[in-house]
Amino acid sequence: MVSTVAPPSTLALLGGSPLHPQPWPDWPVWDGREEEAVLRALRSGHWGRLTGPEAAAFESEFATFQECRYGVATPCGTTALKLALLALGIQAGDEVIVPPYTFVATVGAVIQCNAVPVFVDIHPDSYCLDPARVAEAITPKTRAIIAVHLGGMPADLDALCAFGIPVIEDASHAHGSVYKGRKVGGIGALGCFSFQASKNLNCGEGGIVLTNDEALYKKVRAESEWGAGSNGQILGSNFRMTELQAALLRAQLTRLPEQAARRDANGKTLDTLLAQVPGIRPLPRATLGCYVHGYHLYSFRYDEAVWELPRATFIRAMRAEGIPVDPGYASPLYDWPVFAHKHFGPWDASRGGFAAPGVHRANCPVMERVSHHEGCWIKQSALLAESQEVHLIAEATHKIWNNRDVLATFQG
Ligand SMILES: *Cc1c(COP(=O)(O)O)cnc(C)c1O
Repeated sequence: MVSTVAPPSTLALLGGSPLHPQPWPDWPVWDGREEEAVLRALRSGHWGRLTGPEAAAFESEFATFQECRYGVATPCGTTALKLALLALGIQAGDEVIVPPYTFVATVGAVIQCNAVPVFVDIHPDSYCLDPARVAEAITPKTRAIIAVHLGGMPADLDALCAFGIPVIEDASHAHGSVYKGRKVGGIGALGCFSFQASKNLNCGEGGIVLTNDEALYKKVRAESEWGAGSNGQILGSNFRMTELQAALLRAQLTRLPEQAARRDANGKTLDTLLAQVPGIRPLPRATLGCYVHGYHLYSFRYDEAVWELPRATFIRAMRAEGIPVDPGYASPLYDWPVFAHKHFGPWDASRGGFAAPGVHRANCPVMERVSHHEGCWIKQSALLAESQEVHLIAEATHKIWNNRDVLATFQG
């Protein structure tokens, strides 16, 4: 008699049982602590920072957590980036170097300052800006570099800061990351964080600018509160965080050290396990000066040539096994239609704005490969699971590797 039960080695994509059928940890994590904090702010009747204590307390607590002197809390990470650019005095037509492997907000903030984003390729080991390529892109108009700590991996800040051009750290993925012994956010001129719902510290929407430079701090404060403290010298805007956001963040911040330690430990385990799988290469965090990885994303490199299998098929097979793998940012930002046709609304070149220069694909070969073939990531909440569950991530890659010849002909 022929058995109709699939053996355990059968891929879930082909009708076998998934290795990880149970759900991964929920995000966000909260309980009575958050309820107490939000009710405290609500019942105080002080819902704005002009009269309440929460936003100021959060600024100081988070700055301390990131080992930085000053913080200005904002409604979101996008506004934090805009404030950082304004504080540096970015003017219309100035050039700002950005990576194309990031969330669109990094680049949008530059355009909304009427400046010109210049896309520079990423490094194949870190997936962050490649300083050697940055060196080639600097012109007399370059006024700032935005270094995105992609997924929580610190960018090569020593090399990027050595150009003598102000570096803004986009640390939206990097709460708690440590670069060569220092927490990120206060190493460049300014550091920006997001507290949007998916981020590792979250109040739905929120952000902060950090700096160790008192003069820059005062400029950020003035730009964020309609010129506050500038004697009418700075116009500014209203980019204040509410007290309810700040109260929620203060409660969430008490959880962050334990969560960050767990993600860091699970990420290291995954590095060790995945390094043993053919055609999978973890990013070499130790050689990149990453002492602690914030892990908003666990990125790894998939080699289509070794696997003889498209990345999309590998990812489908992983997801069928219950492993939440995504292909990362599957299109370089410069390929978005809006950057191709440069219709930026009020910042459009035809209205006096300075449209982003066209970026030729050939300028960013690493970006092309990572976006279209190589990059894979797993979201931060999966790294909050038990260590045994993290082992199943690696086991799933072995299972798929052992069945890759079957998958090569799979037409599902
Ligand atoms: C989330 C994010 C931002 C923007 O933050 P918001 O809080 O969503 O405005 C900026 N840069 C990167 C890399 C991000 O992931």
